[in-house]
Amino acid sequence: MRARHILEHSGEAALKLIAVGGVAIIALLTLLAQGMQKGLEPNEAQRSGSVQGQSRFDSARAFRDLGKILALGPRPSGSESHTRMREYIKRELSIAGLAVREHSFTANTPLGPVPMVNLVATVSGSVDGVIVITNHYDTKFFREFTFVGANDGGSTAAWMIELGRALGPQRQGRSIWLCWLDGEEAFVEWSATDGLYGSRSFVSELVRDKQIAKIKAVINVDMIGDCYLGIFGDPGAPSWLSNAIWAKAQVLGYGKHFLTVPLEIEDDHVPFRRAGLPALELIDFRYGGSVADHNRNWHTPQDTIDRVCPGSLQAVGDVIYHALPDIDAALNAGNARR
Ligand SMILES: [Zn+2]
Repeated sequence: MRARHILEHSGEAALKLIAVGGVAIIALLTLLAQGMQKGLEPNEAQRSGSVQGQSRFDSARAFRDLGKILALGPRPSGSESHTRMREYIKRELSIAGLAVREHSFTANTPLGPVPMVNLVATVSGSVDGVIVITNHYDTKFFREFTFVGANDGGSTAAWMIELGRALGPQRQGRSIWLCWLDGEEAFVEWSATDGLYGSRSFVSELVRDKQIAKIKAVINVDMIGDCYLGIFGDPGAPSWLSNAIWAKAQVLGYGKHFLTVPLEIEDDHVPFRRAGLPALELIDFRYGGSVADHNRNWHTPQDTIDRVCPGSLQAVGDVIYHALPDIDAALNAGNARR
């Protein structure tokens, strides 16, 4: 996979990266050189400590989901294993009482047309408006090796099944759409037309159907299963939305996993942002304890379940679960302008 990097430095802590498709090696090396990795430890320590405000999110269940998903093998868009994964997600959500709908479309990829399906589960709210939480559930297609994507494509798909269970079919506040987006990964080389198939299709459908105005906030979650959890700040996100999440992480004792280092990256939040919606990317784009680990683990056969920790899924689950009422409150207060 090839990528384009744009680096801008302003002050020693500020680092901006636009990683098209995400190979952020140069920027990450810079990050390391700046000594910005303090506070990142394996999440086992976090798990053993007492954490206040744990939610109904149960990372043990999420981890079991992840094991079942990974047992299906590689899950590129359009594959039989990906279809079976989708059936598994739908089954678990229906047990949890959530309504699920499918958005099917055909993606024109460099390898030809590929049938794709976005899955959307609804938590019905008591007031108008929707908060959308997205992840991608495809794994990148590799001919030359077996890629199971335990973190990249697996962890967030399992995480969001459990978030659906924790939230349940109804809530006070806005409705939540939990979206498993198809086709995030590029088939050949990341570009404006190869990658983000599911999010681009979903957003244009919402615009076409005049549904886009219902959506008040978007959070995309990617690669948050890393045992060395460190989520970068999103400089393109509105501050009211970032603040709701980062402040909650502090309160719950997860602050060290939510970094102040900004990283701008192209992912499934981008089509929503281009449509004018307040959107935030939650990504741990240094997979492992070091930059060298990241380069070994990301989009390689090493992206396996032993590098994913339940404690990381728990941290992000607790934070998002408890941040949602604050996001509602910020929206009620009229803080959301974009
Ligand atoms: Zn990927």
